[in-house]
Amino acid sequence: MSNRASAPPNERYTLPMPAPDLQTLRDRYLNQRVGPYIAWNVVSRTQIWQWCAAMGDENPAYLGAETATAPPTMLQSWTFRDVHGKYAPGSTDANTYEVLGKFDELGFFGSVAVSYDQTYHQPLLEGDRIHSYSTIVDISDWKDTGLGKGSFVTEHAEYFNQRDELCGEARITYLKYQPAKQASSEPPTAVKKILRIRPVENHDSAHYWQGLREGKLLLQQCSECQTLRHPPQPMCESCQSINWTTLEASGAGTVHSYTAIHYPEIPPFDYPNIIVLVDLHEGVRLASQLIGCKPDDINIGDRVQANIQEVEEGLSLPLFEVIGK
Ligand code: ZN
Repeated sequence: MSNRASAPPNERYTLPMPAPDLQTLRDRYLNQRVGPYIAWNVVSRTQIWQWCAAMGDENPAYLGAETATAPPTMLQSWTFRDVHGKYAPGSTDANTYEVLGKFDELGFFGSVAVSYDQTYHQPLLEGDRIHSYSTIVDISDWKDTGLGKGSFVTEHAEYFNQRDELCGEARITYLKYQPAKQASSEPPTAVKKILRIRPVENHDSAHYWQGLREGKLLLQQCSECQTLRHPPQPMCESCQSINWTTLEASGAGTVHSYTAIHYPEIPPFDYPNIIVLVDLHEGVRLASQLIGCKPDDINIGDRVQANIQEVEEGLSLPLFEVIGK
């Protein structure tokens, strides 16, 4: 029997949602097999190579033979959505995860994956085209957890090749919970501001951070051979002397290189977040952040100037501004 033939009518997922309680959610979503989700691409040597390279997996079982074999742990990756959130043509429009959204609507917007088990039945080979089905198999009673009151939702996914042979299965359990503070009767408090990760200030580097708090960009300078160095370190690379003093840098330099980070937007930074390597006129290189400009306006070699700012209480940084081409 074709696995596709046993899929439920997808219209069940588009009905309006009545006042939600767990039993309603179970009635609506439990044991409804949704799919197929069809892979955008056939299993390919290129993707297997990329995966193995990223994982540092040099097992010859994957790429050593004429026909490449996918590492079993790639199972889930073949039927992922694309970067626009779309599944490949022929895939269902229904979404198993709609049930998680219903928890969000109830105020149980906390979400954490608590377990993920995969079972492999047969290898995925170069040229195979994978499709998958997904079923919500459990919605637990309400539980009091360390994170807050919630329910464990378990999904069972099945992965088939083009001959409808079961190649692998996965069970993933999410906890959908109402964060404990939110559930209390206390009035909501202001969201705690996320701060930058604080630098380590130790015997070798404290002068640098203290200097910035005083508005000075201090570079380490070897007392013996006068070589400048940055970032701070205990010993001169040129003469191995551990005696050093400091030199106040002008803050003037040029852009050695830069990169603009657009996504993901992680607090507390502003985006695009432009990270720059500055060649200071004194002859050392510094990693910092460019402010007051757009990525398109920056060129390698642009002249920059440090603008020392207290970005958070007790933390001053030499941010750089472009002052000329
Ligand atoms: Zn030296």
